[in-house]
Parts: sequence; structure tokens; C-alpha cells
Amino acid sequence: MEQTKTCRDCGGRMTKGFVADANYGTTAFSQERWFRGTALYSWYKGLQADGKKIKLADGLEVVTFRCDRCHLLQSFAS
Ligand SMILES: [Zn+2]
Repeated sequence: MEQTKTCRDCGGRMTKGFVADANYGTTAFSQERWFRGTALYSWYKGLQADGKKIKLADGLEVVTFRCDRCHLLQSFAS
């Protein structure tokens, strides 16, 4: 994927990046992933999609571009 894009709202330059999730406090991060379906979380089953347990390998990495001018975020999963 290219490193820059043009913002659809203001025409500014968008820079490639990603959104990190903090898993355990602020010392462990992971990159967001996309899963098909509706998310449901329970403390004993964890995060599920449409009632089925999700696996890391089934998720797609999410890449997010940020507009340098208006700060719009635009994400892609591939
Ligand atoms: Zn913009």
C-alpha cells in the first residue's frame, strides 16, 4: 500500500500509520485487526464475532491514514 494518499474531505496529504490497542496497561500494544460480524465481549469467553471465538489469524490488519491538514482518519483492512 502506498505511503501517502489525498484526503477526500479537504485535499490535504494523508500519512500512513496504524492505530494501536493497549492490551495490558501501557507497555503492551497490538495493531488493530478487522473481523467480519458483530463484536460481543464477555469476561469468561473474551471477544467473539457473531457468537464465535475469534482467532488472530482470521483478522485483517488495519492500516490507517491521517490527514495532515484536517486530521481525518481513513482506515483499510487487508
Ligand atoms: Zn483532510
